[in-house]
Amino acid sequence: MKVLKRKYARMIVVLGFVVLLSIGAAAAFRHDPMILRCSLGVLAASVLLIAFIRWRYLRCPHCGKSAAIVYWAPGWRQSCPKCKKEILFDDQI
Ligand SMILES: [Zn+2]
Repeated sequence: MKVLKRKYARMIVVLGFVVLLSIGAAAAFRHDPMILRCSLGVLAASVLLIAFIRWRYLRCPHCGKSAAIVYWAPGWRQSCPKCKKEILFDDQI
């Protein structure tokens, strides 16, 4: 049975917080070019990393056409909008 790894879902969740924090930092320090540049750099890097991890590790294990919605912990079951098969993580089996 093909499953997705929860650790990648958790990386996405953590990176999501990093994105929010860097947006907050960029807004709070918008008059400080040094901090502004750093937080925008972190923001861009996190967004790219999220896109890469979702594309590389979190696509539907059955058809590969859709990316799974990520959750920190098991509990909610989802199915692929394209092939209608259930998408499972490694802690749900
Ligand atoms: Zn699918």
